[in-house]
Amino acid sequence: MKHNFGAGPCILPQEVFKQASQGVLNFNDTGLSILEISHRAPEFVAVMDEAISLVKELLNVPEGYSVIFLQGGASLQFTMVAMNLLAEGKKASYLDTGVWSKKAVAEAKLFGEVEVVASSKDKNYSYIPKEYQVAADSEYFHFTSNNTIFGTEFHSFPKVNAPLVCDMSSDIFSKEINVADFDLIYAGAQKNIGPAGATLVIVKDSILGKTGRAIPSMLDYQKQIEAESMYNTPPVFSVFVSMLNLRWLKSKGGVAEIGKENIAKAKALYTEIDRNPLFKGSTAVEDRSNMSVCFVMENPELEKPFLKYAEEKGCIGIKGHRSSGGFRASLYNALPITSVHVLVEAMQEFAEKNA
Ligand SMILES: *Cc1c(COP(=O)(O)O)cnc(C)c1O
Repeated sequence: MKHNFGAGPCILPQEVFKQASQGVLNFNDTGLSILEISHRAPEFVAVMDEAISLVKELLNVPEGYSVIFLQGGASLQFTMVAMNLLAEGKKASYLDTGVWSKKAVAEAKLFGEVEVVASSKDKNYSYIPKEYQVAADSEYFHFTSNNTIFGTEFHSFPKVNAPLVCDMSSDIFSKEINVADFDLIYAGAQKNIGPAGATLVIVKDSILGKTGRAIPSMLDYQKQIEAESMYNTPPVFSVFVSMLNLRWLKSKGGVAEIGKENIAKAKALYTEIDRNPLFKGSTAVEDRSNMSVCFVMENPELEKPFLKYAEEKGCIGIKGHRSSGGFRASLYNALPITSVHVLVEAMQEFAEKNA
């Protein structure tokens, strides 16, 4: 039995994998694969519609917002956000909390002035800056809600006097949020939504169309909204499996219920990290992520042997990102708490053997 703590692409529920396989072989008893029907066929249009309405239902998306599935991953959103929202000669504000925010900043600079209001680079992104000012003339404020690589997460969202844009790639659907607090949310699918290939965007319609810039059609939110996520052939498999996964989430009781489980999973692991003399957390306690749990060993020489020991117990994907080192256990929605217990036991046994 494998326990998949991988950061992305990552674990999805077994039953979703089974339904996805069935859809590849014979979709809804049509005698055809989901991969061979037209994306304009009523069968696939129904899949797209259900995926979008599940997003709206699960996150309680208010009136005045559009939900679209695009391609290019969260990384293309670094570009699209600035291209669609930042007029030439105007300014946008960014909070630098890690690798992903830094990349977002670099892309935005191609379109206008970028003000980095604060950065936690001084301590290798182990905390989230809390004291900063956003310029009054800023077009929007961008932040990354969960820093997948360094293991910090916003537990309450910034309150600023500018439209709020959030890269929510690695903690969307992990807990309740109030979409009305945001003007634009984006997320690559492959961390809590479905398989790689689709990107979810939730955008307040009233913020669009203001830059005066000519925007290539594929990169224009308004054109994608008008085309109902079908400006061109959408990533049909990713959207299909995302829909199945969101159905699964709904059947589990939605984000409120999964949020409680996610807190319990994270608590179980952090408790062991804090208790076990061999391990220590690598992020500020108040900013610890419930999705991406990062930790190191007091004696770095034991890290390789522990990685091997954990793998022998079936715990896969816990090696930290190359820029942070140590370990990272991703506790996405589909990871059962029993997997966390297996990892905790491995830590306890390893500590006994190396006492
Ligand atoms: C994984 C990740 C990205 C990059 O996503 P792609 O879909 O591969 O472009 C961006 N932001 C965050 C927070 C991530 O976790």
